[in-house]
Amino acid sequence: MFRTIGSRIAILTVLLIVAATAALTVYSSNVAQDSYLADLEGQLSAEARLVSESASDPLAQGASIDQIEGLAKRLGQLLQARVTVISSDGAVVGDSEENPAAMENHLNRPEVQAALAGNEGSSIRYSRTLGYRMMYVAVPVRASGGQVIGVARVALPLTQIEKRVARLRYTIVGASLLTALLAGLLAVLIAGQMTKPVRRLTDLAERMAHGDLAGRIQITSRDEVGRLGGAFNRMASELQAQIEAMDAQRNMLMAVLAHMADGVLITDPGGHVRLLNPAAARLLGVEQEAAVGERFVALVRDHQISEIWRRCRESSEELSETVEMGRQRPFLRVVATPLSETSEGECLVLLQDLTEMRRLETVRRDFVSNISHELRTPLAGLKAVVDTLRDGALEDPPAARRFLDRIEAEVDALTQMVQELLELSRIESGQVPLRLVPTAVADLVIPPVDRLQPQAERSGLTMTVDLPAAGEEPGLPSVLADAERVREVVTNLVHNAIKFTPAGGQVTISARVAGEEVIVSVQDTGIGIAADDLPRIFERFYKADRARSGGGTGLGLSIARHIVQGHGGQIWAESSEGQGSTFYFALPIAKETITSS
Ligand code: ADP
Repeated sequence: MFRTIGSRIAILTVLLIVAATAALTVYSSNVAQDSYLADLEGQLSAEARLVSESASDPLAQGASIDQIEGLAKRLGQLLQARVTVISSDGAVVGDSEENPAAMENHLNRPEVQAALAGNEGSSIRYSRTLGYRMMYVAVPVRASGGQVIGVARVALPLTQIEKRVARLRYTIVGASLLTALLAGLLAVLIAGQMTKPVRRLTDLAERMAHGDLAGRIQITSRDEVGRLGGAFNRMASELQAQIEAMDAQRNMLMAVLAHMADGVLITDPGGHVRLLNPAAARLLGVEQEAAVGERFVALVRDHQISEIWRRCRESSEELSETVEMGRQRPFLRVVATPLSETSEGECLVLLQDLTEMRRLETVRRDFVSNISHELRTPLAGLKAVVDTLRDGALEDPPAARRFLDRIEAEVDALTQMVQELLELSRIESGQVPLRLVPTAVADLVIPPVDRLQPQAERSGLTMTVDLPAAGEEPGLPSVLADAERVREVVTNLVHNAIKFTPAGGQVTISARVAGEEVIVSVQDTGIGIAADDLPRIFERFYKADRARSGGGTGLGLSIARHIVQGHGGQIWAESSEGQGSTFYFALPIAKETITSS
């Protein structure tokens, strides 16, 4: 009930008015009563003097009680009041309303005492005889000599006056109640009007508390509430701007985190993960959403990482170590650092994936060792031949010529290897730009096959090309290719097929459409490739069977892969040992031919 300002003001106002009118009622009714009583006393005193005048002679002459009684009755009727005549000894000798014989001695009545003393006396008393309050006024009755011979008393009930005072009271109380009611209503209305802006402010603040910062107060006055509204609006704008700036910053940070290659984790002082980015989730093999809130140790499931994190938390120092998470799992550099000096126990853990770097390092090491190995054999051969020549073979011209031929063969092999290496490195470093133009598949396949046909025949192999003819349905669309480079790929594949297929075998070159690509395949019925070797044959210098690969360098397939990938295509092989192999490569179809076909 007292919860609104309006009701409080209304209640206070009403209380004030009620208190004021109560005091007013008491005061004014007393004043009115006093003035009524004074008037009445004056009237009764005049009447008493009249009675005294009339009773003077009969009393002085010792008239009978009956006579005085008759006088009192007559005067009482005339004055419309109770008239009593009392002798100087206090005995009632005449009364307008009672039988004097039955009345007690009145000597002890205060007004009678005063009158007997020669003064005018008055008294207000409850009359037990009549049952209501009366005002008595008594004056002395004097003989012609001036001595007091009795008392004349006139009395009137106060009921009239009491009624009038009561009516006055009711009027005042009624009026003040009405005023209080009206004032209360007015107070409620005014307070409601005054607190309306405050209520609007409250509503707005509530909306802001629920995150809606767009609302503003309309300022209609320049008073305190108006100024409060202004301050409130400024606060809301400021808050909104700050939150927007924070959001933007947060989004930026989130975007950076989301696209970072390094894993980032932040743990709270309790050791739970507060934040982790997608890279961290991927490196640890966990779900990003489910991981937030997990215990760090339970999440990483790796005692080395947990140990680095624990030591960082204990020492509050940055620690960095490399961690091998086991086979098939990433090789990581773990950097653990306290998040900030102020936030005790919070830790930032960075996971850098070094797997690829390590792989590249291995590849480089292998490359160097492979190349030295590849160079050592021909160089040792050359050295042996030179030594033989110096030891006397030079004197034997036919032998010397044979040795020279061997030297030439070795130098040719070395030259080819150096050329292939150079080409590979140029392709790898992107120095050979591919000129991609729509080219018919037959233009890519037929020339190399034709060139190798004699070699195939020499090796006792049948070689067939199986291409849907250009006009045929479904014909082969053109592909986007650098013809010279792709021919190199085909040459290499066909050459391998011839090299690794024993006499009597079959080599088939074909092509087909698959989705938006054309797949060219080179199939042979040769020695095949062991399942262990199959994933590695596209590596540089890799030879599945060194004894049988003859003069090959192991670079051909590696170059082929680079060329095909440079076209946006793929190259792969299927094989079963002893039954033959099939090499495939896919090239994208030229767009013009897709739309025109
Ligand atoms: P190379 O110059 O030795 O032929 P490549 O890179 O062309 O080098 O081939 C790598 C290795 O892959 C070969 O040494 C061989 O062991 C294997 N290989 C390639 N093609 C075939 C094939 N058609 N059949 C069997 N083995 C093959």
